[in-house]
Amino acid sequence: MPQLAKRIGRAKPSAIMQVADKAKKLKAEGRDIISFSIGVPNFLPGSHVYEAAREALAKDSGQYGSNRGADALLDAFLKHMEGIGLTGYTRANCSTGIGAKHILYNLAEALLDEGDAIAFAIPYWTSYMDIAEIVNAKIDLLPCPPEQDYKLTPAQLDAALAKKPRVFLFNNPSNPTGMVYTKDEISALADVIAKHPDTWIITDDIYNRMVFDGVGYHNFVQARPELRDRVIFVDSLSKTYGMPGWRVGFMAGPEVVANAVTTMNSNHITNLPEIVVAASVAALSGPQDVPEEKCREFQAKRDQVMAVMESIPNLVCPRPQGAFYVFPDVSAYYGKSHDGKVIGNDIDLCNALLDSKGVACVPGSAFGEPRSLRISYTCPTPQLAPGLERIREFFNEMQ
Ligand code: PMP
Repeated sequence: MPQLAKRIGRAKPSAIMQVADKAKKLKAEGRDIISFSIGVPNFLPGSHVYEAAREALAKDSGQYGSNRGADALLDAFLKHMEGIGLTGYTRANCSTGIGAKHILYNLAEALLDEGDAIAFAIPYWTSYMDIAEIVNAKIDLLPCPPEQDYKLTPAQLDAALAKKPRVFLFNNPSNPTGMVYTKDEISALADVIAKHPDTWIITDDIYNRMVFDGVGYHNFVQARPELRDRVIFVDSLSKTYGMPGWRVGFMAGPEVVANAVTTMNSNHITNLPEIVVAASVAALSGPQDVPEEKCREFQAKRDQVMAVMESIPNLVCPRPQGAFYVFPDVSAYYGKSHDGKVIGNDIDLCNALLDSKGVACVPGSAFGEPRSLRISYTCPTPQLAPGLERIREFFNEMQ
């Protein structure tokens, strides 16, 4: 048989989907499973989004569209950016893609040649590693343990950028930790970035509308407007608008980068489908009560999850202020046993939790941090309290 490309050896199936699939299988076998694994928002967009899609369907020409994105979509995105404090961009600074994942992949192809360096923090969203490996970049990981609230310090960033990586990839609010950088923290990191002109900065901020406690969302470009020449902002409709399967992502940055992403689109996808574009314009420009209400709801759920985390002895759990994830350090329990099974690491722990209590969480090693596990609290509301109670029982039963 002829060989596959070496690239495929570096491409791995998503670790998160593997946990989700195991949970699904157990559920199909009749087990009572509560899933805290996959980060699906678990709510629907407002009815105006479906109406717009239906209207587009009725008059859909079915022709090819713009590689960059329809003007109406780019304009709606630009308005949305203004709403979060990113002003002065034009259509020429933007491009669209099949979700933020595709935008990030396009950016990796557009900015990184084989062997070029990309730096990003641990814990990282799983796909950063996968995308960097597929394009065969040199990966520089910057460990941000729970003791520093899983956040990158200016000194760490300074040391990383001194090595002149081609790309620094940043994520705020964070998946998997839910941590949000304050205005002062963003400002201090922006000062460091300003000192190192050789690196592109990708800031993956797809949870920018899901920020709690009034901390607000902040961006390097607001802190230092001159960074606009190097900072690439990435956004998506998936989480904020409850539209993960509609597959809509955006970028805004220097024109040369937006043009490069658009060129990749012309080679990979040509355009987003017209019906999806119409629904996306409606989501961005129509009533915003769904994202606003969901943000309040997730803040209350964060409180509910944290109350349980804080009641379990020896968990170290920095308090998240955004997204819908909590990332407790559970390593104090490694070496103990549950139901006679020794828990050696995060994978053993997640397997034992799923087998004994029917609760699915994702092992932290999927995000580069094997001391922790990720709890995604997007399950249907009635399942949250019982799921958390099962987690508390599980840790209490450890010996
Ligand atoms: N970035 C982060 C940090 C994410 O958590 C996700 C989705 N889990 C994405 C990007 C990709 O989002 P999309 O659905 O728009 O591809």
